Amino acid sequence: MRAACATIHLGALRENLRRVRGLSPGAHVMAVVKADGYGHGLERVARALDAADAFGVAGIADGQRLRAASVSQRIVVLSGHDEPGDLAEMRRLRLDTVVHNDAQLDALAAESEGRVLRVWLKLDTGMHRLGFAPERAREVFARLRALPSVDRGIVLMTHFANSDVFDDALTAHQIECFERSTSGLDGERSLSNSAAIIGWPEAHGQWVRAGGALYGMSVIAGKIGADYGLRPAMTLTTKLVAINRVRRGEHVGYAATWEAPEDMSVGVAAIGYGDGYPRAAGSGTPVLVNDARAAVVGRVSMDLITIDLRSVPDAKIGDPVVLWGRGLPVEEIAHHAGTIGYDLTCGITRRVRFAEDEK
Ligand SMILES: *Cc1c(COP(=O)(O)O)cnc(C)c1O
Repeated sequence: MRAACATIHLGALRENLRRVRGLSPGAHVMAVVKADGYGHGLERVARALDAADAFGVAGIADGQRLRAASVSQRIVVLSGHDEPGDLAEMRRLRLDTVVHNDAQLDALAAESEGRVLRVWLKLDTGMHRLGFAPERAREVFARLRALPSVDRGIVLMTHFANSDVFDDALTAHQIECFERSTSGLDGERSLSNSAAIIGWPEAHGQWVRAGGALYGMSVIAGKIGADYGLRPAMTLTTKLVAINRVRRGEHVGYAATWEAPEDMSVGVAAIGYGDGYPRAAGSGTPVLVNDARAAVVGRVSMDLITIDLRSVPDAKIGDPVVLWGRGLPVEEIAHHAGTIGYDLTCGITRRVRFAEDEK
């Protein structure tokens, strides 16, 4: 069996949810579990976050999985209905839809039979991805309200492009635009992702939508989840499978990109980009060997990485290696790989074993 293992800390997930509630008092919390719970496992995360008020998923298939796992909370399909048949399936499974374009509105109007559906109306206040132009908020809201098949409790929502920069004018503009275009409309409001839950309390509304924060991650530049009282929910580990003596001037790995500055030991650990460890993580990316910091040297290959063991002279074959998680923030690895922590946890591949602990 390969040694690569992602341990999911169920207690950290629960604690992070309490932390998000503490940061957004009075607001309902939608736990965003798209991309298989940011790579942590959809059903596992939903079970641990049973105290969430709703779950946010990217597509109907995830809603089907959650209902099959007996999740009873509201489930919001963040991209909404798309294909013929989606609305019938959403009604059957009691999934909320997000309406962000005219084609969706027409599909809803054409299918007025059946169980009442809950709708979130999405406005594009500056991200320029999904959503109606803010000038159309009143007209679209009125049209939805007139449909007998739509629940009267329409939630008004928008999404921030840059809320991880706390003094950014774009977010202030988005908030102002949202307030202006929805003022007087009778519905709950939802604006904030994790970064806005932390940095833009004036934008919390009645529903916050927390993803990364629940998994203990931050996308705020130079900050890690722990800076905001969050705990990592995933620790990725493997073990040393070889230790080589390398002479000064010899090279390690594909393309011989790294040269030993002295005679030294180089460890080989069973993890690579085939497991989702980022190939872009270059020489100098930290790992923990027996809880001591060491650094990747040379190229990351498909199944293996090579590690400078000068800081861990007593390391031996079989010793544990932590790639990220407890004791080694995923944000730090992401920084070395030129990406964000979300990208790394989402990128864990199927051959990695998963384990759970209650901590
Ligand atoms: C992914 C997503 C979120 C959660 O974002 P985080 O930064 O992970 O908190 C919230 N709202 C929408 C619409 C999303 O797509």
